[in-house]
Amino acid sequence: METLLNKQWHHLEGREAARLLGTDPARGLDAFEVERRLKRFGENSISGKKGTSALMRFLSQFHQPLVYILIAAGAVTAFLGEWIDAGVIFGVVLVNAVVGHFQESKAVRALDSLSANLSADARVLRAGKAVRIPAREVVPGDVVLLRSGDKVPADLRLLSEKELRIDESMLTGESLPVDKDGAPLPPDTVLAERLGMAYAGTLVSSGQGAGVAVATGDHTEIGRISGLIDAADELQTPLTRKIARFSRVLLIAILGLAAVSFVLGVLRDKPATEMFMAAVALAVGAIPEGLPAAVTIILALGVSRMAGRKAIIRKLPAVETLGGTTVICSDKTGTLTENQMTVQEIYCGGRAYAVSGQGYAPEGEVVPADGGDGPGEALAECLRAGLLCNDAAIAARDGRHRVEGDPTEGALLVSAGKYGLDRDRERDAFPRVDELPFESEWQYMATLHDAPGGEGRVVYLKGAVERVLDCCGEALSPSGAVGALDAEAVIRAQRAMAEQGLRVLAFARKSLPGDGRLERSDSCMGMVFLGLQGMIDPPRKEAGAAIAACLHAGIKVKMITGDHALTAQAIGLRLGLGGADCDGADGGLGCPVMTGREIAELDDAELIERAPGIPVFARVSPEQKLRLVTALQKNGEICAMTGDGVNDAPALKQADIGVAMGVSGTEVAREAADMVLTDDNFATIEAAVEEGRGVFANLVKFIAWTLPTNAGEGLVILAAVLFGAALPILPVQILWINMTTAGCLGMTLAFEPMEPGIMDRPPRRPDRPLLGRSILRRMAVVSLLLLVCAFGMFQWELAGGASMEAARTVAVNVFVTIEAFYLLNARSFTRSPLALGLGTNKWVLGGVGVMLLLQLFYTYVPVMHRLFASAPLGPWQWARVVGCGLAAYAVVEFDKKYASPDI
Ligand code: ADP
Ligand code: MG
Repeated sequence: METLLNKQWHHLEGREAARLLGTDPARGLDAFEVERRLKRFGENSISGKKGTSALMRFLSQFHQPLVYILIAAGAVTAFLGEWIDAGVIFGVVLVNAVVGHFQESKAVRALDSLSANLSADARVLRAGKAVRIPAREVVPGDVVLLRSGDKVPADLRLLSEKELRIDESMLTGESLPVDKDGAPLPPDTVLAERLGMAYAGTLVSSGQGAGVAVATGDHTEIGRISGLIDAADELQTPLTRKIARFSRVLLIAILGLAAVSFVLGVLRDKPATEMFMAAVALAVGAIPEGLPAAVTIILALGVSRMAGRKAIIRKLPAVETLGGTTVICSDKTGTLTENQMTVQEIYCGGRAYAVSGQGYAPEGEVVPADGGDGPGEALAECLRAGLLCNDAAIAARDGRHRVEGDPTEGALLVSAGKYGLDRDRERDAFPRVDELPFESEWQYMATLHDAPGGEGRVVYLKGAVERVLDCCGEALSPSGAVGALDAEAVIRAQRAMAEQGLRVLAFARKSLPGDGRLERSDSCMGMVFLGLQGMIDPPRKEAGAAIAACLHAGIKVKMITGDHALTAQAIGLRLGLGGADCDGADGGLGCPVMTGREIAELDDAELIERAPGIPVFARVSPEQKLRLVTALQKNGEICAMTGDGVNDAPALKQADIGVAMGVSGTEVAREAADMVLTDDNFATIEAAVEEGRGVFANLVKFIAWTLPTNAGEGLVILAAVLFGAALPILPVQILWINMTTAGCLGMTLAFEPMEPGIMDRPPRRPDRPLLGRSILRRMAVVSLLLLVCAFGMFQWELAGGASMEAARTVAVNVFVTIEAFYLLNARSFTRSPLALGLGTNKWVLGGVGVMLLLQLFYTYVPVMHRLFASAPLGPWQWARVVGCGLAAYAVVEFDKKYASPDI
């Protein structure tokens, strides 16, 4: 069968392809055969880009300006015969690369495993039944079912297709979706024109179809060019790029400065060796090289924190943007509501009926609301339409009834069941011949059935009330006779239901003579109106609180739904959507609503002006979502937008944070999104925003902690050169400080818990610089403190008769100690660490502890004396060192309390 893998399948008939692959197109493979093929052909997954091997990634750690400088410095040092120093420098380079590699792999792995969680599903025919399986279990010969929104799981030869259009841009670069057609084509047809094929990784933009899998995994077209999946590239974000750019500019400036100080020193008749060392020390100390990598790691940590709260980040930059979100546009159904539909009211034949019972259990009955006679033929037809024009199923497991498919349709099965219509019996009596599936933009679904007794065919239609009424000229009377349609009365009935927050669907039918067909163009004409069913979909319990939290945090929340304005308004009110603005003053329905029709009438400028003030948008089409996002963004908003359908993809891409649904959404939406909710829940968006703010805060704290170290080191060296004094710290000592403090101290800020009140503030303004004025001032103060203390103590020791080694050891310890105390300060810009509680970030305490041990090691162990030219210190020297740390701590706390209390 291996030879089959390279056939020109597009040249064959679909059935012929199926025959060659040993599959019955109507039944698919059976379990035994699947097992066998899975063993033989392997899993349907692409082994990934082999190019960036671990070795290459390790080597890339050396591809950094600082490393070049260090290697050059090491080489020169070795040339000068300073073997120990050279050894230390090369050792540091190596350790640095190992640590960097380890951290980066960890970040990549974190992201990889997250996207693996999102692995796609596929629908296949197995032993005659349509089943949902993980896409990686598809084998050659499987009959795969496709519908709009799916990602094609393997290369398929199509067996059947209906209005099937596939977006193949990822494979061919062609941006317009391709209309598929099953006819065989000449063998030399190019990939982009093989209409009878569907290729793995491409996206179904509309219609439906079925095909037999001809290639899986690495044998697929996409598998062969698999370079597409390269997680490492995604590790860059706007922020890390900005920081990298900043570091590069700084690098050049500092190298210039180093060169100048070298020349200056030599002109003053200082020994060239010493001046070279000073220049190297300056470069090594002042360049914040580790910063971009550290930022990436903090963001990656944010990714796993968010995953812990059910928000899966697909694109790293989203972590950064999330915290700045100013408006969240959310779907209603399933995100703000439970998506647990129960039909409660029915209107047909001019009468209202009440349906009792809750959920999907078949217990309950349908009774006339006015207590009159039993239900008539019209009711049966209305319920039958809901039953037949339906793709859902109810499964009972462990006494619990669940919907498989669309909950809206599940509710219709249940209401019909309560009336006594049996799903299987009805489906046998009215075999389905054809269908037009529901798509949000059409707002209806239609099915074509053979009528019982060979009396031609019948179309059943269900959908949004306005839509269906447009198609109807007549209505069914209670007795089942066809008569005049009172559209006014229907609309009144609909309003009454919608005002209670019910989702209302209308039903209609039409008889066709002979073997009539079903086409989008003429499906909606001359229909007979059957009735309405109104279903309750309770708001999610968490949603109200999450909305309140967002409003409190200065984040606007907008509900965007395909549902009717009144339904949306009623639900919006229950959720407290408009905040204090619409507390129900206006007859209980105070929230301003804008409908899709109104949006269509506004031009872009008007929409930009009006959109921000409106909390509820109803009957919105997916294209309008795109217009809305754009309009909000034009107002300077950072916009998160949810979506689940194929047509939502453009809006998801346009939004700053595109949010897709992990449970109910389509593959296409997920592919376009930045973030996927594993529980489809609005509250999860709010949680992710909160985490985003936390991550961002920690990032700023980390940067504010790191940069003064570099500045301080640079200043100390510069001062020494300017005063013509001996270097208070040598290059290898600077390396020691940077290496140990970055890991032991700085990174612990990544684990800083969110400060209380993080959601009490308005979102960060997007145009605000990363580091505000007060933060910059505080950083300057700390840099100066480092300079004064380290330089001053060094001179003091020398003046007091200490050895050069001891004086430098004091300077190094002063640096580390001040940094450790400043780390405590840096945990919050406004609160003192005592107010936060010293124990609330155990990592910080642990880091400081380890740092202390390392410094004792540095100061007292003979090996270190040889490697780093350190020397033991006495108690008074330590006392002065700690004194410096305490003083710095006090200064920063003073600044927090009195000088810049509200950063
Ligand atoms: P949302 O998900 O925002 O609630 P939809 O686009 O799913 O909105 O639905 C819009 C309207 O389309 C609904 O109010 C309903 O009238 C109709 N509708 C929804 N689901 C179906 C379906 N499966 N079949 C027919 N009509 C539907
Ligand atoms: Mg929907």
